[in-house]
Amino acid sequence: MGPGPSDVSPRVLAALARPTIGHLDPLFVSLMDDIKLLLQYAFQTKNELTLPVSAPGSAGMEACFVNLLSPGDTAIVCQNGVFGGRMRENVERCGATAIMVEDEWGSPVDPEKVQKALRDHPQASVLAFVHAETSTGTRSDAATLCKLAKEHDALVIMDTVTSLGGIELKVDEWGADAVYSGSQKCLSCVPGISPVTFSPKAVERIQARTHKVQSWFLDMQLVMGYWGGSSKRAYHHTAPVNAMYALHETLVMLEEEGLENAIARHHRNHLALVAGLEAMGLSMAVDEAWRLPQLNLVCIPEGVDDAAVRTRLLRDFDLEIGAGLGALAGKTWRIGLMGHASRERNVILCLNALETALH
Ligand code: PLP
Repeated sequence: MGPGPSDVSPRVLAALARPTIGHLDPLFVSLMDDIKLLLQYAFQTKNELTLPVSAPGSAGMEACFVNLLSPGDTAIVCQNGVFGGRMRENVERCGATAIMVEDEWGSPVDPEKVQKALRDHPQASVLAFVHAETSTGTRSDAATLCKLAKEHDALVIMDTVTSLGGIELKVDEWGADAVYSGSQKCLSCVPGISPVTFSPKAVERIQARTHKVQSWFLDMQLVMGYWGGSSKRAYHHTAPVNAMYALHETLVMLEEEGLENAIARHHRNHLALVAGLEAMGLSMAVDEAWRLPQLNLVCIPEGVDDAAVRTRLLRDFDLEIGAGLGALAGKTWRIGLMGHASRERNVILCLNALETALH
C-alpha cells in the first residue's frame, strides 16, 4: 500500500509466465493490436498513435518531451511536487526553455497562474503538467488546464502515471496531446512499461520536425514502424514480450470490470480509509476536493516517529506504506490504494495495523 508498484494479481502473474514467443510472431502481433485497442479504451481516446513504450514511466515522459520539443522552443511546466521537476529536466535537456509555474506541494496546479504564464509567454508551444502527483497525493484540474492550453495554441503534455485506471481521465474530451502513464500504479501490472498516446495534432508536429529527435529509442517516427497502425510491422527493438502479456491481461481485467466501476471502487475504498483514519484521530493533508483516492496523504501526528511506525508495519503486518517526499518528508505518510490493491480487506488491514503501531 505504498506509492507503487502496487500488488499484481495472480492472473497477471500467470500471464507473465506464458511461453516467450518472437516479437514479430503473428500471435504476438495480434496481441499488440489488442493492447492498442484496450489502451485506447483506458485512455478514452481514438488516437491512432497509442502504444506501450517498452520502458518505465520516465521513458514515456521523455518520449513526449523529446518528440514535441526542439532546441530553442519554450514550454510552460507546472510543478507542485517531484514529477513537475523531472519534466523541467526533460525540457532543458531538449535544449528548450522551461517557464516554471510553481504551486505548493499538496496543492493543485493553479489555473490562474497557468493562464498568466501562457499570456506572458505567447511563444510557448507546450504546456506540461502532472494530473495526479504521486509525491503529494494531489489531483489537478486537467480539463481546465487543457482548455487554457488550447486557447493559446499550445500542445498539452500530461503525466497520468498515477491517474490511469484510478480516477476520471478523458484524453479526447479534454484535448490532451501527449499523454504518458505507467504500468505499475492503478493498472497493477508489473513495472517497466509506459502506455502513451499522441493526438493527431501532436503527430503532425512530430512529422513536421526539422531537428532529429535526440533519442533514437524514443523517436516516435521510428517506433511507429513497429507499433504503428500498419499491418506491416518492422523490427525496431525486441519488445519485452512477457511483460506485454501481463499488460494485456491487466487491460482485459480493466475492461471486464469496466473503467467506471474501477474508478468507483477506488473512490469507495478511499472514503472508507479516510473515515477510519479520521475516527482514529488522524487527519488528511490534502484538501478534500483535490485528494487522490489511489494515494492518500496522511499527516503524521506530533511526536510520532515516522520511520519506526513504517518499520513496524512492514515487520509485523507485512504492510508497506510510503514515506513523505521533499518538504513533506517526516510530516506525512502516503497510503496507496491502487488497482488490485484497492480492496476492502486492505483498508481494514491498514487501519488495524496503524491502530496497533500507534498505540
Ligand atoms: N510520473 C509520476 C507522477 C510518477 O508517480 C512516476 C513514478 O512513480 C513517474 C512519473 C516515473 O515513473 P517510473 O518510476 O515508472 O519511471
